[in-house]
Amino acid sequence: MDFEAVIGLEVHAELATTAKIFCGCSTKYGAGPNTQTCPVCLGLPGTLPVLNEKVVEYCIRAGLALNCRIAGYSKLDRKNYFYPDLPKAYQISQYDLPLCRDGFLPLASGKTIRITRIHIEEDAGKLIHSAEEERYSLVDYNRTGVPLIEIVTAPDLATPEEAVEFLEKLRRILMYLGISDCKMEEGSLRCDANISLKPAGTPQLGTKTELKNINSFKALGRALAYEIERQSELLMEGKAVKQETRKWEEAKQRTLPLRSKEETQDYRYFPDPDLVPIELDPAYVAEIAASLPELPEAKKRRLIEEYHLPEYDADLITGSKHLADFFEAVLKHYFSPKAASNWIMGELLRLMGEAGLTPEDLTVNPAHLGDLLRRIDQGEISVSQGKNVFERVFRTGASPEEIIEAEGIRQISDEAWLRTVVAQVLKDNPQSVGDYLGGKTKAAQFLTGQVMRVTKGQANPQVIKVLLAQELAKVRKKTEETAGLARENKDL
Ligand SMILES: [Zn+2]
Repeated sequence: MDFEAVIGLEVHAELATTAKIFCGCSTKYGAGPNTQTCPVCLGLPGTLPVLNEKVVEYCIRAGLALNCRIAGYSKLDRKNYFYPDLPKAYQISQYDLPLCRDGFLPLASGKTIRITRIHIEEDAGKLIHSAEEERYSLVDYNRTGVPLIEIVTAPDLATPEEAVEFLEKLRRILMYLGISDCKMEEGSLRCDANISLKPAGTPQLGTKTELKNINSFKALGRALAYEIERQSELLMEGKAVKQETRKWEEAKQRTLPLRSKEETQDYRYFPDPDLVPIELDPAYVAEIAASLPELPEAKKRRLIEEYHLPEYDADLITGSKHLADFFEAVLKHYFSPKAASNWIMGELLRLMGEAGLTPEDLTVNPAHLGDLLRRIDQGEISVSQGKNVFERVFRTGASPEEIIEAEGIRQISDEAWLRTVVAQVLKDNPQSVGDYLGGKTKAAQFLTGQVMRVTKGQANPQVIKVLLAQELAKVRKKTEETAGLARENKDL
């Protein structure tokens, strides 16, 4: 029997506010354990939470970008559970009245994935478990009270590939909005997946499992693929799938049961009596809507239309708002869209990859790349010299002009002088010349290399190509004449 997968995602994004959701503590990642805490986020008795307005604003931004309805009236609820990472023994979240509802996000295929809701909530602390034989755990409350939004999709995704594409698109949008840095490896973007199988073509839904501990896009795809395999084997054997939460084990590339899934009633949600409901003025929401940046899909379309970039280039460049902004800034200095895109996708991304940098860390001055492209177009330096110069621009931040001056880099296009160099190279390499004349055209590459060596890489490759062809033709003619003469002498 064939099965179809039914997949829904729950995505948590840490919001990039400077302060926590109900107190003034810093949200900065990586500080010493428990250094960013106060009586409020430690849940000490007698303290009162005060809602950080930025959190509401950021959630509305996400809701608007994902085509949601923004609630005029919303409230915060307590979700009760007892675990050491939660000092109050309840998490402040939103239950029945989330800030945003009924949105959607289209995939590249045109299929639309519905977004059921987006709500705000506080993060819990982080437990650090010691090695098994030592039998203790440590807790770091720095993360307690860091604001989150939870984005819940309808079970509209049918394959692991669709789930990964959705998450990538969502991440791109949240980063464009500037509301989260979305680093999966630092936990600022987390994704849980619900998955069940049903017989192909039928409407009835099977029992679902929830997958946790997914730390990368790759892990999301693999965990879902593994779970499809596991569930279909069970169903084929006539066994039942258990409703449970399972953990993705990266090292072993498998899912393992974590606990039986809680039901909503287990959390005994109730409205938080310490916080007033959120009432939104439509004018405030309209103001936020007007301030939204151009979103990735719109930007991609515009780059294709305005600069005639191929779809592939536009997609790669709009993969990050920083990269797209950099691209357009380069064009302000020197307008050559396809060349700029080639250099960004080739040299820039290669150098950034080698240095372990993300587009957000990009510090290259766009004027420098624009200047370099102009110098190459004008024949002042060659493309390969340009690549060397750009690598130095990237590493030192110096301008192409400074580097070119300091190193005496220039491109020699002086034909008369280059012709003497070419002639000398041909004289010094009779073997290669013979090979070339004998039909081994590859020998020309060797000869070009020799000219480059003599000129320290500064010869204009275009000029060399022409001169080499001309000089080789001369040699050929001479050889033929000599051979002709020899025949005539013999005949005499
Ligand atoms: Zn605090």
